[in-house]
Amino acid sequence: MSCGGTRSGVHRGAQSCNQLANIPRTLDIRVADGRSPAMEVEVASVTASGITKEFGQVTAVDGITLSTRDGEFLVMLGPSGCGKTTLLRIIAGLETPTAGEILIDGEVVNDLPPRARGVAMVFQSYGLYPHLTIWNNIAFPLKTQGTPRHEIKRKVEWAARLLGIDRLLDRRPRQLSGGERQRVALARALVREPTVFLLDEPLSNLDAKLRASARSELKQFQQTVRTATIYVTHDQVEAMGMGDRIAVIDHGKLRQIGTPAEIYEYPADEFVASFLGTPPMNLIERDGGSLGFRPEAFLPKELLNGSALMELPFRIDRVEYLGSERILYGGLEGRVAKREVTAKLPAHVVLDGIHAGEWHAFAVRERELRYFDRTGLQVR
Ligand code: ATP
Repeated sequence: MSCGGTRSGVHRGAQSCNQLANIPRTLDIRVADGRSPAMEVEVASVTASGITKEFGQVTAVDGITLSTRDGEFLVMLGPSGCGKTTLLRIIAGLETPTAGEILIDGEVVNDLPPRARGVAMVFQSYGLYPHLTIWNNIAFPLKTQGTPRHEIKRKVEWAARLLGIDRLLDRRPRQLSGGERQRVALARALVREPTVFLLDEPLSNLDAKLRASARSELKQFQQTVRTATIYVTHDQVEAMGMGDRIAVIDHGKLRQIGTPAEIYEYPADEFVASFLGTPPMNLIERDGGSLGFRPEAFLPKELLNGSALMELPFRIDRVEYLGSERILYGGLEGRVAKREVTAKLPAHVVLDGIHAGEWHAFAVRERELRYFDRTGLQVR
C-alpha cells in the first residue's frame, strides 16, 4: 500500500512513510501455466501488539504480540478455546480488543472497520451465497465496491484460472465438492487484492483425503501469490505441513513462535512439547523439572551404536501396530514419567525378541534429550 493508500484516515504507527517506501510493496503474480501476470498483489505485514480480549470474566486473548514477515504463511495453532479465532477476528476488525494494537504495514488500524483494513477472511463455512453462480459469488465483493464491469471480469477470470475453477463458473455452490467450494471462497477473497489473508480452519469440512490435497494446493497457491497469510488450526499436522512459522497458543497466551522444526525440536516449554507430536514428547521427572525425549528417539539400545547414550530400561506393556510404524507403550525402571512412556519404531525395524510384558534395553542419544525447569520452561 502506498503512503497515500486506500486505508484513508489511518493513524500512522511505528513506521513512517519514508521507512515504508524502502520496502518492496508489490510482487508480480505469475500464473503457473506461464501466462502473463494478471495483477500485482501487495506484500504486507501484520503485527498484533500486546493484544488482550476479555469477554466478561473470560480472558480469551492474554497479551499476545506477534508479527508476520513479508509473504509468509503463519499458522496459529492451539487447542480448542485457546483464543485463536478471537485473535484472528481482532486482526480482521470483527472484534475490538480490550487492550493492544493491530498494525498493518506499520499503521495502527484499530479504528478502521474490516473493509478498510485490506484483509480478506475465509471461514470454515466458506460463506458462499447458494443462489448465486460461482462467477457471481467471486464477483460479489467487487460489485459491492462499485468496481467497473470490465475490471470485475478480468479479476474474476484471473482468480478462477489461478485456482483452477474456471470451468465451474456457471455452477452454483451446491454443485461443487467441498474442495472446490474452498477454492471459490479463496478466489472471492483474492479478487479483493487483500494485503493479508486470514484463514480460519478453512479445511475442516473436508474428508481426510481431500484435506491432504487441499492442504498442498493451498500452500502452493499461497507461495504463488505471496500474500501474508495467517491460518488458524488446532491440527498440528496441518500446522507443521503448511506453516513457514507456527505460533503456538494456549489459554490466550503465545507459548512459542518459530519454524515447524524449531518448535518440534526445541519446544519452549512442556506445553509445546506435549502439544506437538503423535504420541507427544515423553517427559520424566528430574531434579524438580523434567527430562524430555521424542518417542522416535527412544529406541532399542543396539540400534544406537556409536553415540553418547542415556540408557533407560523399558517395560513394554503393549504394542500398537500402525502399518508404517509401531507404537510401544510402557514404563521406565526407577523413573517417574508424567504419562505413559512411548517409543515409535518404523516398520522396517525388526522387533525380534521384543515382547509385551518384558523389560528391554532402550536408550536415547544424549543430543536428543531436552531439559525443562520447575516452571516447565526448556533449559538450553
Ligand atoms: P476453537 O478452535 O474451538 O474455535 P479458539 O481457540 O478459536 O477455539 P476462541 O473461539 O477464540 O477459541 O475462544 C476463546 C475463548 O473465548 C473461549 O473460552 C470462548 O468460550 C470465549 N469466547 C469467544 N467468543 C466469545 C464471546 N463472544 N463471548 C464470550 N466468550 C467468548
